[in-house]
Amino acid sequence: MSHNNCTTTHRPSSRLDTCPKLFGCVDASYINACYLCDELSDRYICQSCEALCALRNRSFLDQNLVSTGHYPQLLSADFDCLLVLDWYQYPWTTLVPLLKFHKQAQIGKVLGTWFVLYRMYRFYDVATLNNKKNKIVTHTQDNLAPRVRCEDTQTQSALYLTSQHLPEAMVPIPLHPKRERQRGYNQALLIAETISELTGIPVVTDAVQRSQYTKAQTELDREHRLANLADAFSVSLTKLGHYSHIALVDDVLTTGSTLNTVCNALYKQYPRLRISVWCMTIAVDDTVVEEFCEKHLDHLQ
Ligand SMILES: [Zn+2]
Repeated sequence: MSHNNCTTTHRPSSRLDTCPKLFGCVDASYINACYLCDELSDRYICQSCEALCALRNRSFLDQNLVSTGHYPQLLSADFDCLLVLDWYQYPWTTLVPLLKFHKQAQIGKVLGTWFVLYRMYRFYDVATLNNKKNKIVTHTQDNLAPRVRCEDTQTQSALYLTSQHLPEAMVPIPLHPKRERQRGYNQALLIAETISELTGIPVVTDAVQRSQYTKAQTELDREHRLANLADAFSVSLTKLGHYSHIALVDDVLTTGSTLNTVCNALYKQYPRLRISVWCMTIAVDDTVVEEFCEKHLDHLQ
């Protein structure tokens, strides 16, 4: 089986290519209906709906979820750190299916942008510098820690991520070429490319390839999920040799079995690689929701 198709980088649609401003996903040439309320807007998600999503209030997500012990599917996680934008609930139960099954690629841009704004800049160390020039800086002056930036439109200053814990590169979870052709793009790659535009962290697209066409994981129970995934991924021997810490990027974490399988395939080739996961949303069951509702009322606001 040829893997060449897996390495193809799908460019975002022309609308995304011409989008002049990433923050708030504003596009001056884009006047259309908000994906959530249908009101006319120059944003993919209007400001009112973005405010209702209350992403700033989810302080309980400003942490490494692997170490919390609150999520059953993470108890056997094979990665060091998990950062998510939100639980898989409204609006994501509306937006993610539009992204994956209805060719609404712009939603990948919304996810990537909000992940940087609402999670990365609250989780990683940030320095604020009054520099309005739009220049991406990828390393600190001493060249030790990654230092990436994007602009805060409210303060008109530049925010720099300065953490030495920041991954050095992103690897989107690949689709099998057949599924990618059906879908028209890999949504994880769209998300990673948006994060890269905002932060300067590079995307490595051909390090992990999906070598088997597997059934949709949601159709299977746990035992069959693992069997379905065994040997589903192949890893390049050379593409990640320069990196000590990468982030896998995906849209929804349900059981975590796909991510664990990719991690173990990576460890076979790169035993000392540190892997973080940036998954935009995580599925949570009712008991987790109830527990958090008691402890963290802020997410209801
Ligand atoms: Zn709206």
